[in-house]
Amino acid sequence: MLLLYDSMTTEMKRLEEFRCQFPLLESQVYGKPLVYFDNAATTQKPAKVIEASSHFYETQNANVHRASHVISAKATTAFEQSRTAVAQFINARSTKEVIWTSGTTNAINLVAQSWGKANLTKHDKVLVSVAEHHANIVPWQMIAKETGAEIVAINLTSSGVIDLKHLKRELSANVKLISVNHISNVTGKLNPVEAIINLAKEVGAKVLIDGAQAIAHHRIDVQKLDCDFYVFSGHKMFGPTGLGVLYGKQAILEAMPVYQTGGEMIKSVSFVKGTCFNELPFKFEPGTPNIASVVAFNDAIALIEAHRDLIAKQDDELTRYTYQSLCQIKAVKPLFDGLPDIPLFSFSVDNQHNQDVAAYLDSKGIAIRAGHHCAMPLMEYLAIDGCLRVSLAPYNTKQEVDFLVSTLQGLLSNEQ
Ligand code: PLP
Repeated sequence: MLLLYDSMTTEMKRLEEFRCQFPLLESQVYGKPLVYFDNAATTQKPAKVIEASSHFYETQNANVHRASHVISAKATTAFEQSRTAVAQFINARSTKEVIWTSGTTNAINLVAQSWGKANLTKHDKVLVSVAEHHANIVPWQMIAKETGAEIVAINLTSSGVIDLKHLKRELSANVKLISVNHISNVTGKLNPVEAIINLAKEVGAKVLIDGAQAIAHHRIDVQKLDCDFYVFSGHKMFGPTGLGVLYGKQAILEAMPVYQTGGEMIKSVSFVKGTCFNELPFKFEPGTPNIASVVAFNDAIALIEAHRDLIAKQDDELTRYTYQSLCQIKAVKPLFDGLPDIPLFSFSVDNQHNQDVAAYLDSKGIAIRAGHHCAMPLMEYLAIDGCLRVSLAPYNTKQEVDFLVSTLQGLLSNEQ
């Protein structure tokens, strides 16, 4: 018994210590403690990440891969250390497979403009799901306009995951790419990406996985998954904004034409001999990158690696607790059946406008999201004009969930 008590307090202490690393969580809004439940949009940043960015500017600020001076060498070392950390984090075979981008959106645009333009024709199809973020729809629409390729949207099952039966019906030799989310930013459900990748192999299609929502919650092993591309954003995993990653299999990236051009992505430029492009990963990194954010990102990765077990356990606990607590309110109608796979809940409230609910919660210090969540085709598919979304991170607490529930109940009882 004593042992159990001791281990519980140790775990509570670790959670408390984890939360204490995020300064913004101590803020007040309208004189009330902030309850931050908009983590799917962006997570808060730990002090170490914030300090690493300042430290870089204070002690190492120089451009990377260019000058021979010592500060530039220091900046380059720190910059490349982060790339190595990302390669290890997702188990890429080589740092050549890790391209810095400005985010998930930029990474998908890169693949669409480079791989898409070179490989798609009017006979080809790109499969996405109806639950994609606009970032995984619009770049394909643009490239489809140029190449004549067709985009086919795969439906969801009633529990909100990609319907494999529908996907199988759409599979053919004309499918050149399947580009789907690992976890949707609206459903919170883990898609059967392993099965999708196997099906794609049967017809020789490439697979891009949008890992924007999965990366902070699940260990990603790109070799085990055997996907062709995996993309994510640093700011959704406690890292800085304006930074993302495109993982691609080396052979595919080698074969892809350059996307944007300029300094750093070249080996030589001549008016006489023309331009010779750089090797991977630099071939896809034109211009001065977001150096300070790349350097600080290493600390976000280290934080996740150091708290893997705590994050997994807390995610699980918060998912169950929040789901059960919200479902106790009769007027709350979840969008999909069953528990989500991460602590992310999309729902509506009977007889309440989503924006009114979000504004009321905001006035009590609770930050949630209302609207289409950059997934208008999903709203269309569900025949709704929007919904509410509560998304938690491991630094959130059950007490905060209780406060959300009592505040919602307060709103509903005021209305009666
Ligand atoms: N894909 C998914 C599933 C997302 O949730 C988001 C952001 O919410 C994005 C893509 C776009 O990410 P970013 O705005 O960081 O480029």
